[in-house]
Amino acid sequence: MQSLWDLPDFDDHEAVHFVTDRDSGLKAIIAMHSTALGPAAGGTRFWHYPDPNQAVADVLRLSRGMSYKNAMAGLNLGGGKAVILAGPDRIKTPEMLAAFGNAVDRLGGNYVTAEDVGITVADIVAIAQQTKYVSGLPVTEGAVGGDPGPHTSYGVYLGVRAAAKRALGKDSLDGLHIAIQGAGSVAGGVARLAAKDGARISIADIDQARAQKVADEVGGIAVSPDEIMTLEADIFSPNALGAILNEQSIPALRVPVVAGGANNQLARPEDGDRLHARGILYAPDYVINAGGIINVATEYLKDGDKDEVRRRIERIPHRLEEIWAESAATGRNPAAVADAMAQRLIGRA
Ligand code: NAD
Repeated sequence: MQSLWDLPDFDDHEAVHFVTDRDSGLKAIIAMHSTALGPAAGGTRFWHYPDPNQAVADVLRLSRGMSYKNAMAGLNLGGGKAVILAGPDRIKTPEMLAAFGNAVDRLGGNYVTAEDVGITVADIVAIAQQTKYVSGLPVTEGAVGGDPGPHTSYGVYLGVRAAAKRALGKDSLDGLHIAIQGAGSVAGGVARLAAKDGARISIADIDQARAQKVADEVGGIAVSPDEIMTLEADIFSPNALGAILNEQSIPALRVPVVAGGANNQLARPEDGDRLHARGILYAPDYVINAGGIINVATEYLKDGDKDEVRRRIERIPHRLEEIWAESAATGRNPAAVADAMAQRLIGRA
């Protein structure tokens, strides 16, 4: 059997904690990739993995991803992630969450948790009964915190504008056709901001009523989810699922730019080369979608107000520019350039 240290995603994790609590039945893994820039921060996922080895691979991949994302967003945070291994019944009890909170607390602030797939704000409130090392708690009106979605949308919108400038020489989105995949929290915000600038929106969601609602709101059109990735447009903005850019989909794209907020858009690292070889400008996902984590980090570190959050999000286009410039100078694809830049920032070049 392959050892943990040899797993492709292990990548010199500083620590990986396997947690069990017999009374509550909790089984969890807390992975801390790097604390070079600050406490390892990243949300907790509650998920049923038919094979526990998948949970290990998932938490390591996500934890390293958080290191890169936090570093590239200029935050004083390292990268980590936790998974709670749900049983086949997916039952989540208050006792499990309490035991998990205690496990986070024992790490003394070296790991900071927040929401992720399967963990709600209410769950985070429950975890916060046991530990102060949490973020993403409900906030009072006017304070920094709350739903990261709108902040993610704002950063993605700014990144889309930067990409339009670089690839198409356009100072504004006015008249540009943007094909948006997804019509949820992030996608809806991007559609509204882009439409305000005069962009033409085509939008698709597997929940067609949701796509139609956003389309009606922004004067765009709702298209079928099968169609959205092959539309002829100026920009394709993926804001739904991961792994959508792959060997099959990339040759079929009919856009000069891919810029959107979905996590883990490239199915495999070589898909970054595939896009690059086609001359499609790609905005690395964890750089363009950092608006939400910027808000969460500022809430946790208490090192800025709402205006500061906005200013930090407004640096996303500069970071993208830096990546694209290095990509142009070296011929390496932007995703590979971003990874290398992040590794330099956390001292792992
Ligand atoms: P959401 O659940 O609000 O919206 C996702 C939407 O995608 C849903 O409406 C869903 O029906 C749709 N969808 C699922 N499969 C689809 C398909 N095959 N084709 C078209 N639509 C499909 O989620 P969200 O918060 O908007 O997040 C969207 C993406 O952005 C995710 O990849 C998420 O990881 C990433 N992201 C979100 C944030 C944030 O702050 N919310 C931050 C960083 C990254």
